[in-house]
Amino acid sequence: RVRRRWLFADQLGPHFLDTPEHPVLLVESKAVFRRRAFHRQKAHLVLSALRHRAAEGDVRLVRAETYAEAVTEPLTVCHPTSRAARGLVRRLPGVEMLPPRGFVTAPQDFVSWADGRDHLRLEDFYRYARRRHDVLMDGAEPAGGRWNLDADNREPPPRGADHLDVPPPPPVVEDEIDDRVRADLDRWQREDGIAFVGNDGPRLFPATREEALARLRHFVTERLPSFGPQEDAMLSGDPWMAHSLLSPAINLGLLDPLEVIEGAESAYRAGSAPLAGAEGFIRQILGWRDFIWHLYWYFEPEYRAVNELAAHRQLPRWFAELDARAVGARCLADVLAGVRDRGWVHHIPRLMVLGNYALQRGWRPDAVSDWFHRSFVDGYEWVMTANVVGMSQFADGGRMSSKPYAAGGAYINRMSDYCGGCRYDPKVRLGADACPYTAGYWSFLARHEHALAGNHRLRRPLQGLHRLTDLDAVLAQEKARGSRAP
Ligand code: FAD
Ligand code: SF4
Repeated sequence: RVRRRWLFADQLGPHFLDTPEHPVLLVESKAVFRRRAFHRQKAHLVLSALRHRAAEGDVRLVRAETYAEAVTEPLTVCHPTSRAARGLVRRLPGVEMLPPRGFVTAPQDFVSWADGRDHLRLEDFYRYARRRHDVLMDGAEPAGGRWNLDADNREPPPRGADHLDVPPPPPVVEDEIDDRVRADLDRWQREDGIAFVGNDGPRLFPATREEALARLRHFVTERLPSFGPQEDAMLSGDPWMAHSLLSPAINLGLLDPLEVIEGAESAYRAGSAPLAGAEGFIRQILGWRDFIWHLYWYFEPEYRAVNELAAHRQLPRWFAELDARAVGARCLADVLAGVRDRGWVHHIPRLMVLGNYALQRGWRPDAVSDWFHRSFVDGYEWVMTANVVGMSQFADGGRMSSKPYAAGGAYINRMSDYCGGCRYDPKVRLGADACPYTAGYWSFLARHEHALAGNHRLRRPLQGLHRLTDLDAVLAQEKARGSRAP
């Protein structure tokens, strides 16, 4: 008799089963929501997806305080996505763990690629994966003759526009399962003291395979053609730009990353999406997403607590609680409000507005990581460590990226429309008009001058630091700002 397949809540799609008829066990555990104050919309999305899945096929849904209580028969389970869950699966008798699914490159292939390298860099892994999986390849050569079209994909937003001219993603429609989820979360909050962050709102992301496929099809035909050029740009009136918004669905396991990649490649081959868009998008999934996943397992468990830049400040309350109204800096206020209202902002606000601010201020990388995990609808433990600890906070001293993503207001000014309407001036680093990002950038460089001295990509900024005649005053100003909202 075939063993029932235990699916974690981020393993909901058909690629986690051997046959469509495979019997399934799902566990809804309240304890998960007691451990962290998650974004209300994230709790909603995960529960909604789990309960929608429970309504399909041969599924046993067990509501239990802990996973262990729910496991009462011999089961199989695909390798889970966190160390804690893997430890639990290993401890439970009668549960057979299968290799991971939901990612493209196999673990042993990643290990063979990574072992013996001094530095692990996305670009090298990405080229390896393109060849290994024959994605966007013309024989042995990359399609179009270039591996990397990033140079075409760094345009600022169009001048004067308040949004990109791209068809918006089709809305998802809530149903009675969502109503029930909302009522339960209200009750948990009221009666069980379970806390959430962020505002509740209509569900914005797919909770079913059908909704996820509809979003994927719409993205590939309507939005992918515009994906490339303004990939790094931000507009205050357009949180979505031409991004796919697929991360919550892929991370819930509703979409197989390979089918997403194939969709994008087919659009390029059919001539309906330009290479820069298709390549840029495929790089995110076949490259970045898999790279981040493998680094979570490849690096030692202690990696999540590394703190090479000795950043020891706690997150201030206004940030931890998404209090955007306390913030005057226009870029940060808008992005924080986006997190509060949607639990999602795109990559550049995460990296260059939120992460950059935390890096400049010396906030604890593990606390920043926990904050991202709790506050984003697509946040999971595996995706935090390398993205937040490594890439955004440079707390590993450069094991996965070649320089810290610290930048002043000039970068934000070039890549967004925020600065025009801001009370601060991106060019000013001292005084009442000083942009907190510009001042914070110099203060960051000054604090870590010795640690960063050997980094050739920072040679020019560090030389610039020495030419600042007002550096002491800038440092004093930043010290006085402390943890106050800018
Ligand atoms: P698109 O721009 O359309 O990209 C397509 C897909 O590529 C995404 O759906 C995602 O699956 C994948 N992807 C791209 N970059 C990454 C990456 N660095 N790591 C993993 N997948 C990637 N992504 C998450 O899925 N969950 C997170 O909690 C998360 N936290 C982040 C925190 C920080 C500080 C940073 C810098 C990045 C984080 N990312 C995270 C990566 C990335 O920002 C999001 O995947 C992306 O913004 C999701 O929006 P999208 O689906 O429209 O992405
Ligand atoms: Fe942000 Fe500085 Fe620009 Fe204001 S001036 S929007 S704080 S970068």
